[in-house]
Amino acid sequence: MSLVVVGSVAYDGVETPHGKIDRMLGGAATYIALAAGYFTPVKIVAVVGDDFAPEDTDLLASRNIDLAGLQRVPGGKTFFWAGTYSADMNDRTTLRTDLNVFADFNPRLPASYRSAPYLLLGNIQPALQRSVRAQMNGLKLAGGDTMNYWINDFRAELLATIAEWDFLLINDSEARLLSHEHNLRRAAAKILEMGPHTLVIKRGEHGAVLFRREGHFMAPGYLLEDVFDPTGAGDSFAGGFIGYLAGQGIEPSRGNIDVAELRRAVIYGSVMGSFCCEQFGVDRFRTLTREEIEARYQEFQSCTRF
Ligand code: AMP
Repeated sequence: MSLVVVGSVAYDGVETPHGKIDRMLGGAATYIALAAGYFTPVKIVAVVGDDFAPEDTDLLASRNIDLAGLQRVPGGKTFFWAGTYSADMNDRTTLRTDLNVFADFNPRLPASYRSAPYLLLGNIQPALQRSVRAQMNGLKLAGGDTMNYWINDFRAELLATIAEWDFLLINDSEARLLSHEHNLRRAAAKILEMGPHTLVIKRGEHGAVLFRREGHFMAPGYLLEDVFDPTGAGDSFAGGFIGYLAGQGIEPSRGNIDVAELRRAVIYGSVMGSFCCEQFGVDRFRTLTREEIEARYQEFQSCTRF
């Protein structure tokens, strides 16, 4: 069933120990949509300038992604982000953030998007995330992502926003910042008091933990032989997670959400995050097949069963 995805569509400059690319397709909504498109139809809400290349539009359009909500600003430039990674690729330094048309982004949903049942709010200003949710009228499952900047400087706005969400996906340092608790278990318990019934804490190469009031589930990270570029891994995780749930038509409003499905969604998230790291930018998604996704999912099962 249809999934609306909101966030940045960008050009990125990335340097890792494996090489450097000055400008390539990126953006949180791009990664989320590409990953989710393997599981369910996606409707993107974002803004680009008129420098956005036709081949990039074509890639998205060829992947089950509706672009009716992709605003194009005449004379504007697409959001540009550049970053560089440490030798072990666990740390990233932002070198440049040119908001360009993203600075005035005011997401307006086409009428054809409003009744979609699933919503993933990528990392944008919490008030904008809230306004998107308010434009929808038949939601079954909604949630999203945020980052340290919004947690530190827009705390009240962020708390009001996530109070309306079913799930929150954040990394471990963000969970600590949001809860003011260092211990992750305590941090999770506090965050589950803030509104979402489901919390996924991503731990980079160490995997992810799914928290609910009744307990938690731990997914390891997939052991890749080579990590070329971790950019977009968190967003691809989010795309795999919500894409799987939307594809299955999960409906928490009809009683308790099926926790086994949530666990599978976390594994699909880990699978999509791991594929993302195998090549630069979105390149791995140009060739990735559903069969490869299923094979890695099975591998996760076999290497964690005991
Ligand atoms: P991730 O590695 O999952 O954190 O996602 C990286 C992607 O986020 C890159 O493709 C960037 O274009 C995008 N990005 C970086 N900074 C921002 C920002 N401030 N707002 C929105 N998107 C961003």
